[in-house]
Amino acid sequence: MERRSFLKCLGCGAGAVVAVDLLPDFLGLVNRASASTLRKGLSTVEARHYRKLPSGEIECRLCPRHCRVEDSERGFCGVRENDNGTYRTLVYGLPCAINIDPIEKKPFFHFYPSTTALSIATVGCNVNCKFCQNWEISQSRPEETQHYEYSPAAFVDECKSRGISNIAYTYSEPTVDFEYIIDIASLGRQAGIRSVVVSNGFIEEAPLAALLEVVDAYKVDLKSIRADYYRNVVRGELKPVLRTIAQIRKSDVWLELVTLIVPTLNDSDAEFTELSRWVKTNLGPDVPLHFSQFHPEYLLPNLPITPQKTLERALEIARAEGLQYVYLGNLPGHPSESTHCPKCNELVVERRGFKIIQNSLKSSCCPKCGWNIPGRF
Ligand code: SF4
Repeated sequence: MERRSFLKCLGCGAGAVVAVDLLPDFLGLVNRASASTLRKGLSTVEARHYRKLPSGEIECRLCPRHCRVEDSERGFCGVRENDNGTYRTLVYGLPCAINIDPIEKKPFFHFYPSTTALSIATVGCNVNCKFCQNWEISQSRPEETQHYEYSPAAFVDECKSRGISNIAYTYSEPTVDFEYIIDIASLGRQAGIRSVVVSNGFIEEAPLAALLEVVDAYKVDLKSIRADYYRNVVRGELKPVLRTIAQIRKSDVWLELVTLIVPTLNDSDAEFTELSRWVKTNLGPDVPLHFSQFHPEYLLPNLPITPQKTLERALEIARAEGLQYVYLGNLPGHPSESTHCPKCNELVVERRGFKIIQNSLKSSCCPKCGWNIPGRF
């Protein structure tokens, strides 16, 4: 596929992968990487977090799915393969999407506002959300998508030469390219480049602990507070995601949450209440929670866009339950994009879309009353 068509194709998933105003940057990046790009071969790097079973199968321990994989077969995510008793990741060093985004687009609202992130993804995902915005890459196999060769060191060098302070693992599910991102993040940390993970939170405790040693922020999709929603709409499990969120919260890594509100599926007042209560009780009132607008995609083309009123109802309920930093996503210009001091209601960070209009924080504190706004500023 011609390179520009490829980029357009990646961009057609909602939300998604290519920000038009940054396209020249992206093209420049790919051009410089392209001496040996688009190869047919896949990675043979040995995977971590697995065990061999007496039957010759491999049990993957990276995510709670615990796939049992026969020789020459792959796990559910399609990017990890049993190679005669050795488990291999097929996507190490082979990103299929690279972009430069504002950090607010991830979304992180309390993490170094106005900075940019070199955003990267490989193919693959360990769940199968019916509403996935990036299904072209998340649900593909490595052979089905064009990719580029990019070593961890190349990404870090790219950031340094462009003055980019963050690398974001995003678009598809970073958990399934664990080995790649942990190596990039480790190198990045040595060079002063921060790493942020945009994830569904469906990961086992041990690999998560390893990631938390080298990354700086995690955005987790808390897609619903109902187990049946996770089973039927996400094809995952709720409990491990809640465990992940709590584990991140106990670490030094910054955490923000996103809930996509899908009309008729997870948009009841009772669910907004239950979800907000879980957050407040288990994490505290000051974890940023973003409610995001659904757009018809992938397996749910017949559902409508989430009405603004529904999002505003979620916002009101979450605030009434005591959450201090609740935002609405995909509604550019809405007042809820900005941060107000929960003590005196002063506007402390004004946003429009992904742009910061003004940031009046003084050493992370409200300039009027001195309230400490949590985050990394
Ligand atoms: S990471 Fe992939 S192979 Fe491993 S358990 Fe999860 S879905 Fe299965």
